[in-house]
Amino acid sequence: MNYRHGYHAGNFADVMKHVLLTRILAHLLKKDAAFRVIDTHAGIGLHDLDGEEAQRTGEWRDGIGRLEEPFGDDVEALLAPYRQAISAVRATNPAGYPGSPMITRLMLRRQDRAIVVERHPEDAARLAALFLRDRQVKALELDGWTALNAMIPPKERRGLVLIDPPFEEVGELARLGREMLKAQSKWETGIFAGWYPIKDPADADRFADDLATGSRTGTLRLELMIETRIDPARLNGSGLVVINPPWKLAEEAEILLPALAKRLARDSRAGFRCEWLREG
Ligand code: SAM
Repeated sequence: MNYRHGYHAGNFADVMKHVLLTRILAHLLKKDAAFRVIDTHAGIGLHDLDGEEAQRTGEWRDGIGRLEEPFGDDVEALLAPYRQAISAVRATNPAGYPGSPMITRLMLRRQDRAIVVERHPEDAARLAALFLRDRQVKALELDGWTALNAMIPPKERRGLVLIDPPFEEVGELARLGREMLKAQSKWETGIFAGWYPIKDPADADRFADDLATGSRTGTLRLELMIETRIDPARLNGSGLVVINPPWKLAEEAEILLPALAKRLARDSRAGFRCEWLREG
């Protein structure tokens, strides 16, 4: 396990994933009934962009670093929960950047719960320290895939599973697809969001085909490309597949993704995708 998210915190892929995370949570917040979030590959929860890892790559400069200027009103309205999460963290550390566990925590109401799972012992310890004595967030040092199987369906009928693996192992993308489909069949009302890197777009297409064939419910493929000259050795784009998406998510992605693609692109023809792999 060599992957450390600290090097990539706040990069373009984090921005895309975290903005969409806040949109899914914003929809869950529309009903009073409690929900649960299960974050299977959680990381440390909170990053310091002035810290050694983030400074070494500087990736955040082409991610969150490019979001200083406001967008148009329609985009800003949808970005509001993401911007609020960042402001909340920056109130105590101006160089702070929230990971998925902290973004989730900041959006929970008293009735909602989260389980955040991390396998790397050092990262899991930092995550546990962040949520020490928090009665709504349980941080666990575990294998995220095992945890996912053990923890669904939760007692709340509503909620989200975020699966954000490091893609260090061969076959992890195919595994993501299989595990998402299996989990959805165990928790039919749950929302499942799986993040994937886009290096060689053919791999992303294969993954999407598997989901299109296997899914029994609405499945949305969202992608942000920052590069049109594809180099399979580099991260050219970022994807999020959402099974059972909230019904407005596609419409919102059609507004957010082009704006983010334009702002975060490395070249002028970068783009986005918002496509139903299967209609709900
Ligand atoms: N979700 C985080 C966020 O958005 O802020 C970032 C997560 S990062 C992409 C992936 C994390 O998964 C790393 O912290 C890594 O240590 C952890 N990890 C790797 N293999 C794992 C496994 N089998 N189970 C749980 N966590 C794992």
